[in-house]
Amino acid sequence: MSGSWEAVIGLEVHAQLLTRTKLFCACATSFGAPPNTHVCPTCLGLPGALPVLNAEAVRMAVRTALALGCTIQETSRFARKNYFYPDLPKGYQVSQYDEPFSQGGFVEFEVGEGDDAVTKRARLTRIHMEEDAGKNLHELGGGSVVDLNRAGTPLVEIVGEPDLRTPAEAAGYLRALRDVLVFLGVNDGNLEEGSFRCDANVSIRPAGSDKLGTRVELKNINSFRFVEKALAGEIARQQDVLESGGRIVQETRGWDEKTSSTFSLRSKETAQDYRYFPEPDLPPLRLDEAFVATLRASLAETPRAKRERFVSELGLSPYAAQVLTQHPRVASFFEEAATLNLEAVTVANFIQSEVLRDVTTRGVEADFPVTPVQIVEILKLASQGKISGKQAKELYAKAKGTSASPAALVAELGMSQVSDPAAIEAACAKVIADNAKQAEQYRAGKTGVFGFFVGQVMKATKGSANPQLVNETLKRLLGG
Ligand code: ADP
Ligand code: MG
Ligand code: ZN
Repeated sequence: MSGSWEAVIGLEVHAQLLTRTKLFCACATSFGAPPNTHVCPTCLGLPGALPVLNAEAVRMAVRTALALGCTIQETSRFARKNYFYPDLPKGYQVSQYDEPFSQGGFVEFEVGEGDDAVTKRARLTRIHMEEDAGKNLHELGGGSVVDLNRAGTPLVEIVGEPDLRTPAEAAGYLRALRDVLVFLGVNDGNLEEGSFRCDANVSIRPAGSDKLGTRVELKNINSFRFVEKALAGEIARQQDVLESGGRIVQETRGWDEKTSSTFSLRSKETAQDYRYFPEPDLPPLRLDEAFVATLRASLAETPRAKRERFVSELGLSPYAAQVLTQHPRVASFFEEAATLNLEAVTVANFIQSEVLRDVTTRGVEADFPVTPVQIVEILKLASQGKISGKQAKELYAKAKGTSASPAALVAELGMSQVSDPAAIEAACAKVIADNAKQAEQYRAGKTGVFGFFVGQVMKATKGSANPQLVNETLKRLLGG
């Protein structure tokens, strides 16, 4: 954006908590069931049905708040947010309003990549719990149906202060927040399926001003890339409007990927009155100190802390630490292998170059083709010189998808590194004899062809020769 304007961005994130059952009833939260099969009188809002608060949802929400440095309120309250919509049969959503269970806190995030990455911090206003609504499904050929499986699913709403200044900061903030939740195991981080949703509020103001401009809310942006693009598009639009003498209308807008522009969904100038009032069917929520202390003590390490430790204690590069903390199960796979007494950097390199491409993740779950124990065994065989580095990769390919012991596979496949000096000398001598011209060149001082000889010997021995011995032997035989 041009020097004369500054953007101001604040994000509201709705994250679905990974409980087995809904916030106020025992219906399953699982995704993808046939419509209206996970419903009961409570989540359908039938008269007389009473809500019972899900304790696991409370624990997850409190852990989320603690991990983000929020203050936990000893007493909070649920409230009814009243509005009409077909996916909301009760006519109100149970949320928290003026007495949320947590306040304050912050998100630490990175902007930029590699050596240019800068760490920033944006404050949170609050985190509160609420139930999700159902879903309207618009069918091809007309007609709409309502699926209430999602109605009553537990959410935390994480409200950020307007501390962000660029689309890149907003994307960095969202990624960092998503990682914190996924590492806590409270959310699956899936933007596409809508279990991690973001509304982005944005306004612009003359650079240097400390007054907030009129904001526009961008809704339903379901990927990190779109968040950045939608915000950039909206900032440019607001700038155009103001520079041509217009004014910004407070409204909700959507993002159209096809035209790369935002479009108006509804005006917000006359704020909707939700007629909030305390939920009469639920007592105030009390979170005593001991309960909170227990959860605080059980908090898993944040991805950021893990990354820093991988660098400072295990000697990984910042890039490797980043790659290995992209998913909690990848991080624990690496850590398990690294604690099985091998050099952490060797383990990290092998996982990055070989294993990661075979790993599939689904939300917080991940499938690995081998176990950490198998990886460590392969790397030990290599470090002991029993197999070559190339054979380690082949061995990994053989071990994939099996529970076979790599050591047993080596014996079975007759795969072992040739460290017998006589055998290696014979192979080197043959390669030199077969390539007399290159040998002459080498002896005449064109040492660049040395790599060619190493390659030929490795090829002739199908990668099984001890590379160090090959180097020494070739140097000796070629002389020069
Ligand atoms: P609502 O619930 O109607 O969306 P809030 O007052 O809770 O309204 O604000 C929601 C979000 O909007 C917060 O994340 C906040 O940081 C952001 N926000 C508020 N004012 C501005 C502004 N002028 N420009 C950009 N973001 C803003
Ligand atoms: Mg909002
Ligand atoms: Zn139910």
